[in-house]
Amino acid sequence: MTETAPGVALRDGIEIRLADGTTVVADARDPAGDVTALTHAHGDHLFGGDPGPVVCSAATADIARARRPEADVAVTTDPRVELVNAGHVAGSRAVVVTDPDDGTRYCYTGDCSTRDRLYLDGFDPPEADVLVVETTYGEPRYRLPPQAAVEGAVVDWLADTADTPVLLFGYSLGRAQKLQVLAERAGRDRVFATEAVRRVNRAMEPHVDATFPVAPYADGVDLRPGDALVLPPSAARRDWVTRLRERHDAPAAGFSGWAVDDSFRYRGGYDVTFALSDHCDFDELNAVVDAVDPERVYTTHGSTDAFADHLVSRGYDARALRANQTSLGEF
Ligand SMILES: [Zn+2]
Repeated sequence: MTETAPGVALRDGIEIRLADGTTVVADARDPAGDVTALTHAHGDHLFGGDPGPVVCSAATADIARARRPEADVAVTTDPRVELVNAGHVAGSRAVVVTDPDDGTRYCYTGDCSTRDRLYLDGFDPPEADVLVVETTYGEPRYRLPPQAAVEGAVVDWLADTADTPVLLFGYSLGRAQKLQVLAERAGRDRVFATEAVRRVNRAMEPHVDATFPVAPYADGVDLRPGDALVLPPSAARRDWVTRLRERHDAPAAGFSGWAVDDSFRYRGGYDVTFALSDHCDFDELNAVVDAVDPERVYTTHGSTDAFADHLVSRGYDARALRANQTSLGEF
C-alpha cells in the first residue's frame, strides 16, 4: 500500500482517495482533502475552524452555522459525491462517492439509524463496493426495543410523573428535540430548554416536520409540577442540577441506546433511563451491511473490532479502520 493508492483511510476524518489521487474527506476537524464532506453537525464530526466549501445537506449547514457561528459555512456540490439520508439526526447524510475512473462506489454512513422516528425517516442503505460503517452498537448485547415501545414507555412515564417537574437529559442536537416532542405528546405544556438546545431548535425547524416551542430556561425560572426541563447530559452531574433536583424532588431521566446497560444509569446519576437512540443497534447494523452488499467493509466508532470480527465470521471481507493505516492494498 502506498500513500497514493485508491482506498479508504482514517486520518482527520474519513479519507476516500480516488484513482486519480483526488481525496474526499468527511467529518474532519480541520479538513485537508480536495473535497470536504460533512455527514451531520454533532460535535465529534464537525469542523473546528473554517472548513471551506462543504458538501452537506442544507439542514446540516444551518445547524453547523448555529453551533459554529464564527465559521463561514458555504455549501457546495461535487458530481462524484452523493448524499443519502442517514436517519441519525435532522440533516444527517451518508456520503456516497463514485470514482469516475474505475466506477468503484464508496459509502460512508456517518452515524446512522434505519428506524423511522418522530420527524425523521430512517436510513435506506445504498449499494456500494466499499462500505465504511459506524459501529457504535456493534455488539450483540446492544439490541434496542422496538421504537414504538420506547416512545410509548417515555410518554407513559411522563404522564405518570405529571405531579412533579422532570429533568430530561439528551444531546442538544437530536435527542433533545425528540424529548420536546414526546413531552408535548404526554401533555406537558410547560417545556423548558437551555439556549444551546434552543439554538439547534431554531436551525432545525425549517427542515423538519415539527416545531419546538419551548421556553428558555435560565436562573430564576421557577419550575412547577408538570414542567419538563430538557438539558444536555453534560449537565447531569453539575451542582446546580443536583440542587434543582433536590429542591423540587424532580426525577432525572437519561435517554440513550447505552441505557440497555445498567451502568448508564449509575454513571449519569439518573433515576430512570430509556433506550431512545439515534443509532442502529446490532441487528440493524447487520441489516445495513447486507443491504449495501459490499465487497469490503471498514468499521469505525465504538465496537469496531468486535463488529469487524463478527462480519468476517459471516463471510464478509471486513476490518476495523485504524488511524493513519490504510487501505485496499494492505487489506
Ligand atoms: Zn452523531
